[in-house]
Amino acid sequence: MTPILSLSAAELERWLEGHGEPAYRRKQVWAWLARGEMDFDGMRDLPRALREALAKEFRASSLRSIATSQADRGLTSKTLFELDGGHSVEAVVMRYPDRSTLCISSQAGCPIGCPFCATGKFPFGRNLKAHEIVEQAADAVRVLAAEGRRLSHVVFMGMGEPMANYHAVVESVRRLSDPELLGISPRRIVVSTSGLIPRITQLGEEKIPVTLAISLHAARDELRDVLVPINRKYPVQDLVDAAQTYAEGTGRRVSYEWVMLAGVNDTERDAKELGSLLKHRLAHVNLIPFNPVEDTPYHAPDRASIRSFKERVEAQGLNVTVRDTRGREADAACGQLHERVMRTRVPVS
Ligand code: SAH
Ligand code: SF4
Repeated sequence: MTPILSLSAAELERWLEGHGEPAYRRKQVWAWLARGEMDFDGMRDLPRALREALAKEFRASSLRSIATSQADRGLTSKTLFELDGGHSVEAVVMRYPDRSTLCISSQAGCPIGCPFCATGKFPFGRNLKAHEIVEQAADAVRVLAAEGRRLSHVVFMGMGEPMANYHAVVESVRRLSDPELLGISPRRIVVSTSGLIPRITQLGEEKIPVTLAISLHAARDELRDVLVPINRKYPVQDLVDAAQTYAEGTGRRVSYEWVMLAGVNDTERDAKELGSLLKHRLAHVNLIPFNPVEDTPYHAPDRASIRSFKERVEAQGLNVTVRDTRGREADAACGQLHERVMRTRVPVS
């Protein structure tokens, strides 16, 4: 059966017309999906015959939730979804006092292959379709609604490189922010990239003011070539220039991510290089303590080293935050969750 979110607004309206229904029914259906209603029969303001016809023809979602796990006393929850065709991806919901953030996947696996990232350990599967990305959010809406919460932020920091699945990601961002669908302000959507420069430029031209996050991790080519291999194609100085153009075009400060790896990129030299690279840029630096991944040579620095690195970068006039340990477990969804969830599989009732 066809996943209903794989249809555009016009396509669904055409289907409705074919079933003798007015076009405005499409908005009603979308409003239910946006509220997390996954059962067509529960869409109470639709005529019974229409509900039945919808259920015969469509699935509310193509994702099958095959495992869930929780952390932080229930404040963080992860779901492993099976996609049509058998690949799986994960999404993470993080609950804070003032917001709820979903960390979303854009690809099953990732073709970039950063050596500290668990996603690279799995062979690349496939690109997600736009509806598969939106469906992760619809599921989070449903889960949060049951707790009296609203999904307020979405970060593309799960599995995959969003800019390597550009068209589906942009389409999903339009859907996520469409007031008739999920209505999440683009400003509350973060697209994180390892640095595909042409796509960053293209994203800037779309005029959707999403927040751009650049996974920097090193400020000199020699080191970044190793940590983020796409750097060999798109060197770091060009990347920061492209990100700056994006920032100026959208008026949105770029967030630079820096996974802290002890003895690798946490030295005084690295802090200095980072400071001079980002001087006078519309930038915010986000330090992420490394989340251990088996079979990698990396370790997280101790707290004192993180603090002194932060202070060194701040001393050069930059804005720096350290992601909390909760974020460390959850925000860096990127594959290691996949692994962890797989190890502690909890069947979903
Ligand atoms: N592919 C995109 C988005 C997904 S990764 C990107 O690289 O930006 C999201 C973030 O998690 C990136 O900043 C990535 O570098 C970081 N990350 C990956 N593995 C990590 C780990 N083991 N510990 C902490 N952060 C990690
Ligand atoms: Fe891919 Fe991002 Fe992981 Fe690198 S950090 S392998 S780009 S998901």
